[in-house]
Amino acid sequence: MKTLSLVIPCYNEEKTITPFLAAVQAIEVAMSEEVVFEYWFINDGSKDETLSILRDLAQTTSNIHYLSFSRNFGKEAALLAGLEEARGDLVAVMDVDLQDPPDLLPEMYAKIQEGYDVVGTRRADRKGEPALRSLFAKGFYRIINRISDTEMVDGARDFRLMTRQVVDSILELGEVNRFSKGIFSWVGYQVTYISYDNRERIAGETSWNFWQLWRYSLDGFINFSEVPLNLSMWAGALSFVASILGILFVVIRKLTVGGSVTGWASLVSLILFIGGLQLLSLGIIGKYIAKIFLETKKRPVYIIKEKG
Ligand code: UDP
Ligand code: MG
Repeated sequence: MKTLSLVIPCYNEEKTITPFLAAVQAIEVAMSEEVVFEYWFINDGSKDETLSILRDLAQTTSNIHYLSFSRNFGKEAALLAGLEEARGDLVAVMDVDLQDPPDLLPEMYAKIQEGYDVVGTRRADRKGEPALRSLFAKGFYRIINRISDTEMVDGARDFRLMTRQVVDSILELGEVNRFSKGIFSWVGYQVTYISYDNRERIAGETSWNFWQLWRYSLDGFINFSEVPLNLSMWAGALSFVASILGILFVVIRKLTVGGSVTGWASLVSLILFIGGLQLLSLGIIGKYIAKIFLETKKRPVYIIKEKG
């Protein structure tokens, strides 16, 4: 029989683990004819009772395992650690707050049987989400899909079921900056999506605030697109051409009608404009250099303190 590994990142989730497990174990029973479940909870440096709950579960239930990080390394790191541990022929990645409905698992499994390599999920709507967050999310997807070769599906969750082959491919990507949405899509394979209505968190709170999401989307741009670099190059090229035209204009005017020396205001505006453009370009390049710097340090993506 095939094994299905569930990779579940947890950060301060003491309230959600028990209801989550109850919901998933009901599905586990329903699917027990087809697959054996294996649970990998990743405690991403929680400050509440998450770890002790996981310890208890691992002791009492033989197919529940956990990893515990030495501090909070972020969801991307937790996902990577889980994917590395999972031994299943199939691997699913799930949030613990039941925003990823476990009752979709049988349907997802059926799609894999049909021959798909990856079955992702996407929210049909963004009900219950703050309006500003939806607005920015939509903007992000519109821009990134225009400028990046890697397609990112609007509303796609990290909740997905993958075959062993896909997981191995994902693990082959050695980058330290792991932008999962991009990585999952970059590896390719036959992918299909299941839509469902947005669900609210059952308990606890989202660990993302507005600025974290903002940084996360900038990360997406920088990790999966060179367009910001090209933009600054084109801005530079344009202002260079404009300046040549300007010089020609000034010289020709001097030689024909004779020039005047007025124009302090326009001169200052021009200097500010060029200066601003240069700083902006430097900033963009700096962002990429910072990423290169982090990558070359080859630091581990996470540190495991305890395993069970
Ligand atoms: N999570 C994590 N590390 C973090 C933040 C979140 O492992 O630093 C986990 C969290 O426990 C949950 C999942 O990632 O299982 C999604 O987090 P959350 O619900 O806060 O994000 P949202 O659904 O609001 O995007
Ligand atoms: Mg959530």
